[in-house]
Amino acid sequence: MEMEKGMGMEMRAREDIEIGEDITPPIPPLSYALHHSFLHSHCYSCFAPLPLPLNSNYNNTKNHHHYYYCSPACSTTRVVSTEELHILQSHHHHPFSSDLRAALRFLQSHPDDRIAGLLTNCHKLLLQEDDEFAATIREGAKAIATATDMASASAALCLVLTNGVEVQDYDGRNLGIAVYPQNFSWINHSCSPNASYHFFLSPPPPCCPNSTKLRILPQHIVLTKGDEVCQDNGPKIVVRSIKRIKQGEQVTVTYTNLLQPKQMRQSELWSRYRFICCCERCSASPPTNVDHTLQEISSASLDASSVSSDQNVYRDYAIRRLTDYIDDAILQYLSFGDPELCCEKLENLLTQGLLYEQLEGGEVKSQPTIKLHPLHFLCLNAYTTLASAYKVRASDLLGLYSEMDEHLLEALDLSRTSAAYSLLLAGATHHLFCFESSLIATVANFWISAGDSLLTLSRSPAWSEFARWDLPIANPPLLKHICSKCSLMDNFKAILFHREAQNADFEDISSEFLDCVTIITQKVWSFLIPGCCYLRAFKDPIDFSWLGTSKYSSLRDVRPHLCCTAEGHGYTLQERMHIFQLGVHCLLYGGYLASICYGRHSYLTSQVQNILDCEECLINDSHESD
Ligand SMILES: [Zn+2]
Ligand SMILES: [Zn+2]
Ligand SMILES: [Zn+2]
Repeated sequence: MEMEKGMGMEMRAREDIEIGEDITPPIPPLSYALHHSFLHSHCYSCFAPLPLPLNSNYNNTKNHHHYYYCSPACSTTRVVSTEELHILQSHHHHPFSSDLRAALRFLQSHPDDRIAGLLTNCHKLLLQEDDEFAATIREGAKAIATATDMASASAALCLVLTNGVEVQDYDGRNLGIAVYPQNFSWINHSCSPNASYHFFLSPPPPCCPNSTKLRILPQHIVLTKGDEVCQDNGPKIVVRSIKRIKQGEQVTVTYTNLLQPKQMRQSELWSRYRFICCCERCSASPPTNVDHTLQEISSASLDASSVSSDQNVYRDYAIRRLTDYIDDAILQYLSFGDPELCCEKLENLLTQGLLYEQLEGGEVKSQPTIKLHPLHFLCLNAYTTLASAYKVRASDLLGLYSEMDEHLLEALDLSRTSAAYSLLLAGATHHLFCFESSLIATVANFWISAGDSLLTLSRSPAWSEFARWDLPIANPPLLKHICSKCSLMDNFKAILFHREAQNADFEDISSEFLDCVTIITQKVWSFLIPGCCYLRAFKDPIDFSWLGTSKYSSLRDVRPHLCCTAEGHGYTLQERMHIFQLGVHCLLYGGYLASICYGRHSYLTSQVQNILDCEECLINDSHESD
């Protein structure tokens, strides 16, 4: 993970690369360490989830159950030294505890080449004005120094802090830290990258055939011999193109969340890696459309009330308060288990904005109310949380009172609000994706979860209850996915069974999808939103072109001409069919985008396949076409 350009520490494409192709073979790590919180649930060697029950796993009898392996292969390839065991037992509270183990293991497995061609950034990290950070590094290095001298220990720890990547599982959880050789680590960061990476978490196979050759090279320097004594253990990384890359063009990936505005990305990159990003997106002036949108706030009287320098101070202050407020609301849900209060607080903020009285702790001033742009990154966070919180409330209710009709109705209402927020999140992010195509992985995830929650809604047991009330509600087997207007289903089957997604199809498939989804959404949106006054302000959760064009001052101002009627939409077979069709479209498109980012055999693509199989969408002819 290099950030200093020049010195040949960058990787360039050896040949023309199309979108959605593997750029590297699966690369095994130089060193790695599972985070402490996953020691009892994941393999210490390959990071795969442990098969249950825990006791029967292949643990080393001497280790007093500190760590476990998933298979005999893993237990023999990953031997733990006494120094490592000591860190595991005595230093697991250190802020860099996993990095300590990775650094130690790096030193032990590379006794002759203690840099392995990577940048340690040692001077930058240890000689910063930020003394606390440097002190933490020194303190950590002492723990490793039992196995080596202090200078090597500090260098190794800095190397891990600089080059280490969080290894994520399919749900996006950070399982541990890994350092990869130059093939990966020399790839520079960009906030508008042309490649992405993902991990393979499984025990090493008997033999390791490398299907893809390395398709990138550094410009000037020859790589030091990277292929160690076929060290094949540990979570492997694969780099994949998400844009078309020309021969000789630099390949880049991101180390930060691309849905954050520039200031946040920059401060994160600085605090973690000590560099200031100068990528195209960061140096654009004026800021790119996406960065502008992600941090836009609106305020009724801001223009008139103050001069511009005050405005900036005021804005920063307001954003800090808004961030605190949203963090606090999310905490109510995630830490205190109160999704209802969380929904109330978030929706309050989204609809009302934050009043200046609240900002000043009781002192009433005629200052403007601060409102967030509906595509502000804080709003996107809020939508993610709301979709999840409403879903949890619905399933809690169903679990508690499955026998009572009025609770079934309420649960169904909560499910449709949840589905509406996940659709809004996907639509909003898709709008940004149209300007910044490196958001593809994020948008793939959001479309898949929107599809999943729409199908969950269409499958809800509550619908069948209405049959008692003589409403024409069909049972799930009656729902069939037939869309004569698009070829998404055929395309998805082709990806699953024949070939990789093709770049040439991308524009066509995206526009077919948007056409279909826009039509179906218009039919169901007003059915999904009556439970929520914020959602009712949106005429359409997918078309955001109205935001960019005319200047608007607040959500409330746009509401009158966007508002739909809250009442009058019953639970009918037709609504259920539309929700089902919409869900299938979202899943198919999300699965298609996922196949570009992660390959057609990825977890996400097969997750889509499984959901659709359950709905009997794919089962009929999928196997014969294989
Ligand atoms: Zn394993
Ligand atoms: Zn940047
Ligand atoms: Zn269609």
